[in-house]
Amino acid sequence: MGLIVMKFGGSSVANAERVRNVASIIIDSYKKGNDVVAVVSAQGDTTDDLIEKAAEINPKASKREMDSLLSAGEQMSSALLAMAIEAEGYPVVSLLGWQAGFKTDNVHGSARIKTVQPERLKNEIGKRNIVIVAGFQGLNSFDDITTLGRGGSDTSAVAIAAALHADRCQIYTDVEGVYTADPRKIGNAKKLAEITYDEMLELATLGAQVLNNRSVEMAKKYNVEVEVLSSLKRVPGTIVKEVAKMEKMLIRGVTKDTDVARISVIGVPNTPGIAFKLFAKLAAKNINVDIILQSVGRNDTKDITFTVAKANGELAVSIIKESFDLADESIICDTSVAKISVVGAGMETHPGTASKMFEALYEKDINIQMISTSEIKISVLIDIEQADKAVAAVHKAFFPED
Ligand code: ASP
Ligand code: MG
Repeated sequence: MGLIVMKFGGSSVANAERVRNVASIIIDSYKKGNDVVAVVSAQGDTTDDLIEKAAEINPKASKREMDSLLSAGEQMSSALLAMAIEAEGYPVVSLLGWQAGFKTDNVHGSARIKTVQPERLKNEIGKRNIVIVAGFQGLNSFDDITTLGRGGSDTSAVAIAAALHADRCQIYTDVEGVYTADPRKIGNAKKLAEITYDEMLELATLGAQVLNNRSVEMAKKYNVEVEVLSSLKRVPGTIVKEVAKMEKMLIRGVTKDTDVARISVIGVPNTPGIAFKLFAKLAAKNINVDIILQSVGRNDTKDITFTVAKANGELAVSIIKESFDLADESIICDTSVAKISVVGAGMETHPGTASKMFEALYEKDINIQMISTSEIKISVLIDIEQADKAVAAVHKAFFPED
């Protein structure tokens, strides 16, 4: 018995039948004597539909009004879920973000949670009410509704778990947990029993869409153990926590990220300060640079190649054109690339992870354009056409068929 915070994503509450299914998960836990606070996302594609509706009326709508509109998706699903629990005869109350005490900064559209003032939540729990909270929203210092950015309900749930010192934070979704690769593509992808916050953060940024990044950052900061599990199949999921069992595993997973553009700047002067000048200009425009490669200088010039998110490719090229006196052909932006990564804290203490990955790519005749490494990750940039083949080959090297 304890206090359990649960979160249900949009697909878990997409229709009446699924709302009833979620109600039964909540009630089962409540009947065991637990106190339950359940955070809910908007049903199915509601948020996207609302964005479309707004665009029909005013494509340049203010962020304040967008937040007011988008938060309605969660207002609907939280009330509907509460009704489903009412129908089963259990005491329940739904609360909007502001009623649940969510105070955020003033950045409409991607607000950060400042505090969760838990008095109302505690009060309702004290009355043995099941509490349903509309995710993804809060109130800023002007008493205006804010939203937390796409996928923000995960963060709402972790924030409540932290504020209430919950015994468990369960994120229910439509997959059974975190896998060593995309299970829809890799037949023998394995579900991980445990994973560390840092590994999860790497996987989240690299495109394993199970948990929102900010929610993992917050879980790490407040040391909230998070369990990712399926709302459709009642089987154990994956626990995200500070120290996870390695299970003799060198790596946790292989990921593919196709949101990458590779920019090459050929023939910049081979003098001190050039890299500084280049990357300072990009940083000033908030362009995040990932992998960087600089060639050895020859004669008086050198080449610098780096990657950015696809959406920033053109802007980066125009900034470089303004900053350096170079012919147009000397600045190349290639969007037909993909980043393949292996992630795992185990590689820190095991030499040979990189060579194993490179060998697997070599055997499939896949050319590596760039490489980057960190303590828990090795990434390579390759041709996008070969991305799926590369993931399969690398996954097989680390997780041979059993
Ligand atoms: N409904 C919001 C979205 O679709 C928030 C969430 O699902 O967590 O992004
Ligand atoms: Mg959603």
